[in-house]
Amino acid sequence: MATITTSEPAVSPTKAAQFLKAPKKNLIDGKWLESASGERFSVYDPSTGATIAHVPDSGAEDIDHAVKAARRAFESGPWPKLSPSDRGRLIWKIGDLILENLEELAEIESLDNGKPVAVARVADIPLAADLFHYMAGWATKIEGNTIPISALPAGDAKFLAYTVREPVGVIGQIIPWNFPLLMAAWKLGPALATGNTVILKPAEQTPLSALRLGELLLEAGVPVGVVNVVTGFGETAGAALAAHHGVDKIAFTGSTEVGKLIVQSAAGNLKKVSLELGGKSPNVVFRDVSNLDAAIQGAANAIFFNHGQCCCAGSRLFAEKEIYDEVVAGVSDFAKKIKLGPGLHPETEMGPLVSQEQLDRVSGFLNSGVQEGARTMTGGQRVGDRGYFVQPTVLTNTNPEMRVVREEIFGPVVVAEPFDKVEELIPIANQSEYGLAAGVWTNDIAKAHRAAHQLRAGTIWINCYNVFDAALPFGGFKQSGWGREMGHDVLELYTETKAVVVAL
Ligand code: NDP
Repeated sequence: MATITTSEPAVSPTKAAQFLKAPKKNLIDGKWLESASGERFSVYDPSTGATIAHVPDSGAEDIDHAVKAARRAFESGPWPKLSPSDRGRLIWKIGDLILENLEELAEIESLDNGKPVAVARVADIPLAADLFHYMAGWATKIEGNTIPISALPAGDAKFLAYTVREPVGVIGQIIPWNFPLLMAAWKLGPALATGNTVILKPAEQTPLSALRLGELLLEAGVPVGVVNVVTGFGETAGAALAAHHGVDKIAFTGSTEVGKLIVQSAAGNLKKVSLELGGKSPNVVFRDVSNLDAAIQGAANAIFFNHGQCCCAGSRLFAEKEIYDEVVAGVSDFAKKIKLGPGLHPETEMGPLVSQEQLDRVSGFLNSGVQEGARTMTGGQRVGDRGYFVQPTVLTNTNPEMRVVREEIFGPVVVAEPFDKVEELIPIANQSEYGLAAGVWTNDIAKAHRAAHQLRAGTIWINCYNVFDAALPFGGFKQSGWGREMGHDVLELYTETKAVVVAL
């Protein structure tokens, strides 16, 4: 295991230093405010466990304040009067400002989440900017239809019927810690393109880039109250937002368990709900794949990217019997060479898990796998005693009853199983309460498309994995969620259709 020791001196961020020093407050109604209680909580560097900032510990009162501000901004003031074209330009500017501040945002993200700064630089931050740029274009294209109707005319009356799509209203957005800025962009971009106003609650582990984004939104000229950023815990601030009767819709990304709580909270005023939840995605390598090395590398990246903290991680690897040993050896070899270290270290390829809680959770799964009879091909242990590092791990000798096979681990842990025939594989691959993504590696185009058709998942990657684009819809079948984010599909989640009938 290549490890950059965590006892090496911490690498200090340069661009982000000034932002980190300044006091952190909520953005509500265009003002930076402490929580109503005055309480704050600590934000940690997951590579050391050291405190790097304090943010407001907000509760129901702060959420109520933000919801009222968002309602005012939705109903009056400059926002509802902006032309679609001006709205689009504003959203485009947010994307530009993200790119202008790319290095600082990458450092903040790396320090707060633990991911390698090099990854934040080429993935998280530019993808967030691209999402705003893509959504900017939609602001001028939210169209309805004219609809020929057959209603019986009174006398010789005729009708003109048409639909318009209007913003849903005040949106509560609750996001996780695995891609903090990118998840904020996935949520804010379409909400703003369609003319809604927002209360965004970032995850307690990673609130910093959302607060920096709040500054950029003001710099871009987003009117007061249109986007409010409120930090706090899920059980308090998040729950208050999900239950608030002044909120018209909740968009949530996180665990399936909390997704179900959100649905219950939303019942009070039957607010709309969209959910992007967990996954346990199958990644299938057939023996006819033309470039097995590329498939092995793809399978390794599918699970180890972002330390396995991806809802769509390829965490169940299936390889055809004849190539199984080679695939397992290849992925294990890849895992052994990954350089673990603090996110800001230039050589780091994999950082720490995000928190002590995630370390305990992933360690618990590793223990349960071994106790239930799984074989650890590589990894399986915590690294060091400082920070939340865990070895990239490959488990074999598993069966569908084991917790490591059924449950989302959300860490760098893959379970590998051989298969004999494609007819047997598909039901096993689909044997999950989740249905977020799947991968297929084969040179047989017909087989690839048959598998794509049979796999019950929202995204199927063929001879690739983790390919995302602002134009591609993303979301899950089964308990992986409700609705699709990105692409034009997401606009459905943020608009209401109104039918207008005119007697001519
Ligand atoms: P959660 O689902 O708890 O967190 C996601 C977001 O929901 C956070 O902003 C959190 O707030 C908030 N939240 C938590 N409880 C409530 C509540 N009762 N009402 C409203 N909002 C709430 O995920 P965890 O961070 O606890 O991670 C646990 C597991 O969830 C992971 O191991 C992984 O399996 C899965 N997960 C899936 C993600 C995905 O992308 N699909 C992303 C993150 C986690 P806060 O963090 O501030 O408490």
